[in-house]
Amino acid sequence: MGRDSSGMVAYHLLSPRQAGPEETSVRHLLLWAARNRWLKDRLPRMRFVRRAVRRFMPGETLADALGAAVPLQAAGIRTLYTHLGENLANLAEADQVADHYIAAIDQIVAAGIDGEVSVKPTQLGLDHDADACLAHLVRIAEHAAAAGSYLWVDMEGSAYCEATVALYERLRAVQPKTGICLQAYLRRTAADIERLRPLDPAIRLVKGAYEEPSSIAYTSRRSIDANFLGLAVRFLLDGRGRPIRLGLGTHDVNLIEQVADQVEAAGIGKDGFEVEMLYGIREDQQYRLAAAGYQVQALISYGEHWYPWYMRRLAERPANLFFALRQLLP
Ligand SMILES: Cc1cc2nc3c(=O)[nH]c(=O)nc-3n(C[C@H](O)[C@H](O)[C@H](O)COP(=O)(O)OP(=O)(O)OC[C@H]3O[C@@H](n4cnc5c(N)ncnc54)[C@H](O)[C@@H]3O)c2cc1C
Repeated sequence: MGRDSSGMVAYHLLSPRQAGPEETSVRHLLLWAARNRWLKDRLPRMRFVRRAVRRFMPGETLADALGAAVPLQAAGIRTLYTHLGENLANLAEADQVADHYIAAIDQIVAAGIDGEVSVKPTQLGLDHDADACLAHLVRIAEHAAAAGSYLWVDMEGSAYCEATVALYERLRAVQPKTGICLQAYLRRTAADIERLRPLDPAIRLVKGAYEEPSSIAYTSRRSIDANFLGLAVRFLLDGRGRPIRLGLGTHDVNLIEQVADQVEAAGIGKDGFEVEMLYGIREDQQYRLAAAGYQVQALISYGEHWYPWYMRRLAERPANLFFALRQLLP
């Protein structure tokens, strides 16, 4: 496998629409640090950095991730797993990634955890060969379905959007227990949902975190949130009585509650869709929403190549940097 880790993590970037000028400078510094090889070789060895990363990642192994799932599951919070990866140097490396996820599904089941896996198409070779990538997705999806689980396909930058939607169409035709992530900031997403509707798709709707130009994306927070709300509500209302699945992949509790309010009158309750958040972010809200009757899922990342992913997590919300620096104190 390659040494760098970017494909799996880029969606943790904060887009400038959410940051003031000072935050933007700190964000650029953190993103520079994420790419800096000298720091990448040294910082992960420092104890305070290793302690700080624990806030967002329970550990480097799947066993660590499964351990963290136990208290969540006891509170009715299901889990999703992503192995932090590296850019593929060649297609053969995708075999190892697929093998890893197959084994992970078995370990999740063996641990008695109600969990699903979420993968990035570029980790399975989309850059090299779309048919080979599909073959890997089908293999993982069939293994997941046989284990009573599900496979989610992440959405990367807009350059991959058309290829990923097309992959999902082919995947879903073969294995229905599969879902795709779509990004509310992309103008094309409404059309993509209509295109997928005949498949009764499972969709994880997120705001989207890559930096995209205004020619193809909504760029103000207000317009992204409005599109998110409209897409979610319409998808749920149009899908009434159909075997669709919708995950709201956001920490924006206000938005989640607005979706719930707007579909309630149509007889869709809080258990009519899912709420998906990242491990360690707004945990209090994850527990609160689960106790209030929402179907909550936490996405847990694990793997050795966490340094760039963690720096980007800090960049997403520079206030988290203070937490990291506090770990320097005895
Ligand atoms: C389960 C899951 C899967 C995802 N998959 C993808 C994907 O495949 N493709 C993709 O493009 N994007 C994906 N994303 C990322 C998503 O697009 C957003 O970039 C990310 O969720 C941050 O935006 P938000 O919706 O939480 O809203 P925001 O408006 O950014 O945040 C809402 C509130 O949440 C809190 N918050 C957000 N981030 C942090 C943080 N790092 N630390 C502390 N508090 C925070 C803050 O209080 C903030 O006010 C995924 C997100 C989740 C939760």
